[in-house]
Amino acid sequence: MGRTDKWTVARILDEISHYIELSDPNPFKARAFERAARAVEKLDADIHDLIRTGGLYKTPGVGKAIGPVIEEVAASGGSKYLEELRGQYPPGIFDLLRIPGLGLKKIGQLHADLGIGSLDGLEEAARGGKLSKLRGFGAKTALKIIDGIEKARRRESQFLLPAGLEVAGWIREKLAAIDAVEDVEITGSVRRRLEIIRNVNLAVSTKDFDAIRSAIDQMFDQVEEIDERTVKALARNEIDVWFHLCKPNELGATVLRTTGSAEFVAKMGDAANAAARTEQELFKKAGIAFVEPERRENADDLSRKRRVRLVEPDDLRGTFHVHTTYSDGRNSMLEMLGAARDRGYEYVGISDHSKAAYYAGGLTEERLKEQHAEIDRHRKAVAPMRVFRGSEADILPDGSIDYGSPTLGLFDFVVASIHSRFNMPKDEMTERILRALDDPHVTFLGHLTGRLLLSRDGYSVDYDRIFERAAERGVVIEINGSPKRLDVDWRHIGRAIERGVVLSIHPDAHSIAEMSNVITGTWVARKAGLTAKQIFNTRSVEEVEEWLEARRSLRG
Ligand SMILES: [Zn+2]
Ligand SMILES: [Zn+2]
Repeated sequence: MGRTDKWTVARILDEISHYIELSDPNPFKARAFERAARAVEKLDADIHDLIRTGGLYKTPGVGKAIGPVIEEVAASGGSKYLEELRGQYPPGIFDLLRIPGLGLKKIGQLHADLGIGSLDGLEEAARGGKLSKLRGFGAKTALKIIDGIEKARRRESQFLLPAGLEVAGWIREKLAAIDAVEDVEITGSVRRRLEIIRNVNLAVSTKDFDAIRSAIDQMFDQVEEIDERTVKALARNEIDVWFHLCKPNELGATVLRTTGSAEFVAKMGDAANAAARTEQELFKKAGIAFVEPERRENADDLSRKRRVRLVEPDDLRGTFHVHTTYSDGRNSMLEMLGAARDRGYEYVGISDHSKAAYYAGGLTEERLKEQHAEIDRHRKAVAPMRVFRGSEADILPDGSIDYGSPTLGLFDFVVASIHSRFNMPKDEMTERILRALDDPHVTFLGHLTGRLLLSRDGYSVDYDRIFERAAERGVVIEINGSPKRLDVDWRHIGRAIERGVVLSIHPDAHSIAEMSNVITGTWVARKAGLTAKQIFNTRSVEEVEEWLEARRSLRG
């Protein structure tokens, strides 16, 4: 029996709470499971120790109803209660959550009244005019739902970059272990570090095509031979994986061609087909300076004589925008500080949510005091790393910053972000952000458009006006490295740089693992062609301190 960790327990409690919410009009029971899930996540002690010593029932929110469920999950990794709930609904029921406007309550209602439990079923009912007869659903809602289904369908064959990287890495490792394989390279949009990918590509060099084809056959259930050198397989039943087989002296050309983009490869002309064992060799033969894969969305760099050294994750000497359990983070202050120090950072800026973000456990002034005291207590333990006290403060609908001056004055830095009223008209939204940039307490502008890749479009804003104002006011614009956000989009960064904007790469980390978001963030900067010098947090702690000090003196 494997040891179940607290994260598994929390996940199961969450799933139970979702099922209860589908069927139970009384919100209390679902909330109780959800609260218990959050409490379990925050446990410092090992869950098995806690059960053995009887401490489990002293955990807030864990009583006679939920305690036994936790014990069962800890012992067996599963829950009979959850199995029973799952049995009452079709397996795809939570797919319906992908449709904007549909929450668990409404989904439960759709299932109870019309037996709907899938996107197909929902679409049929919406088009057949059945929805408008339900309480709480009108003709307008039906139209919105049809639109939402269409959007969800379009997203179906798209994936966030980390999913592609994971699949590609796993397959590459498997192939590399095969004798007949000389070399394997990940290519395609994954290699170009595009934020949304449709498939995974690998170039495989070999002297024995048959051996590779049969190895691929054994690795996957669904395999399609396109031609002698091209095989397509379905990984994890969702992502298309393309294998491009070649002879060893064709690998350079195959990697180049299958990395793309089409525009870039076309501009390379005949040089793209030269015999070479590596791509580097191919560029050399053609007398063209190497172009980093991230820079190949178009052919612009090919016509430039000089190449710049793009920023790398190791160039970052610190970062900002890190959450802890004080708000909606999953790791404690000390754990997050430790994670920053483990990366070798000279400084880190902690910024939990502000008061207005009550849904994310935003901090009251009282809690802020406690947090600042805790930071002070840890300073020695994490020295020489410097800890900056900050806040991810809400930009309120009128553009003012949550907390107000006296409290904002306590921070070393403020990340100002929008977390509400996303659908303001473009002009109003732009004015709202411009007003926030005018506030001298604001150090960074957080996730500029609020987009959530593959699920929520960003709010519409006038980028140029925002960039101009940020440059004028000396507000640094964040590159939010969360793979779901990657906001600012790299396609707009050139315009920001032209206007003199400084950018900073932040993880928006809600856990230790998410500190790695700085790497995805760095890819955004690389795609925009940025060097280390153009990134705020490649500066030394002394430079950053001096800069923050200068900002503080503006507050008056
Ligand atoms: Zn945020
Ligand atoms: Zn955040």
